[in-house]
Amino acid sequence: MSRSSLMATDVVAAAVDAQRADLETFALDLHAHPETAFEERRSAGRLVTALRHAGFDVTAPVADLETAFVARRRFGPGGPRVALIAEYDALPGLGHACGHNLISAAALGAARALASTLDAGAGELLVIGTPAEEGGGGKILMLRAGVFDGVDAALMFHPGARTMTVRGALAATRATMRFFGKAAHAAAAPHLGINALDACIQTFNAVNALRQHVRDETRIHGVITHGGDAPNVTPAYAEAKFIIRHRSHVYVDELKERVYAAARGAAASVGATVEFEEGLAYAERKINRTLAARFEAHLEAQGEPVVEPLAVGGVGSSDFGNLSQALPAIHPYVAMVPEGTSAHTPEFAAAAASSAGMRALHLAATALALTAADLFRDPDVLAAAAAEFRGDAA
Ligand SMILES: [Zn+2]
Ligand SMILES: [Zn+2]
Repeated sequence: MSRSSLMATDVVAAAVDAQRADLETFALDLHAHPETAFEERRSAGRLVTALRHAGFDVTAPVADLETAFVARRRFGPGGPRVALIAEYDALPGLGHACGHNLISAAALGAARALASTLDAGAGELLVIGTPAEEGGGGKILMLRAGVFDGVDAALMFHPGARTMTVRGALAATRATMRFFGKAAHAAAAPHLGINALDACIQTFNAVNALRQHVRDETRIHGVITHGGDAPNVTPAYAEAKFIIRHRSHVYVDELKERVYAAARGAAASVGATVEFEEGLAYAERKINRTLAARFEAHLEAQGEPVVEPLAVGGVGSSDFGNLSQALPAIHPYVAMVPEGTSAHTPEFAAAAASSAGMRALHLAATALALTAADLFRDPDVLAAAAAEFRGDAA
């Protein structure tokens, strides 16, 4: 029997617990210095320094992304390759209103606990730093660059309003619409103008009409980012940004074509034209119940009850969806705000530096470390997670 197979759960948990004060300091430091998508130089740098100090071999940057990194710690030849995922981007104007400072601290805590206790046996532990979850699709770009090739399982946690291990996320596509018309004096020569703003407004009306005839749990939401420059000039240019979401990326693709058709029709109705620029497509999250059950058991052993996700609604989108389509992965939630409090709000940002946030951080760091330890210790866990991922009949 290898030493890793003798590793007791309480040794790993104790190694997380020993870092309690340090992890809180780390999380609060990131919280006090929020950095938005692809600008997370200080945050990523602090993680890289801490991981190097803990004996990890760090490659940074990776995938041509300045704030992306891969930290590796090999325990022995062969064995599974397990990745802890760290997010660290904040939101413009709101700071850490998605609590990614806690995600980073939990990944660091779990990684150091495993590095100090799992010193024999086989396998490799990775910490993968993924920038720009908030709209930049860092994980999608890293997947394309092959950063996750050869990784057997990926684990992260997210703070939230309910402690849940199997909540999904919607597929989402972003589109920028650019409407082109013709400027004219709005009073002296309106008959010579083509109103790009009207094309844009008609698009919103057409999309609103479409809502009646789409599948349940569709979300289509947009803003006008340019509506003209002066009221006495017919707007020659207008711009809107939309996000289209549903449980299935196949249906999102279908919806996207219908939204584009609505915009083309709206533009044509006033004599304008429209062009589309498409953002990265976020895939829906693929649940891995095998891994989620391990995480859940380790939360409940700490006295944290796990609840089911809401039957309808309460769901956003993340580039973690794309990762979960590529390999067995989990994105569980640990509660730190009262039910009904949403992420991306000042209340959520405050919670990410509160005692409730720190509690979620410790629960999650411990459960992450123990779930990864299960994967290193028991080949059956990874085999079951992989079989579930492939869709093999049980
Ligand atoms: Zn967010
Ligand atoms: Zn988030």
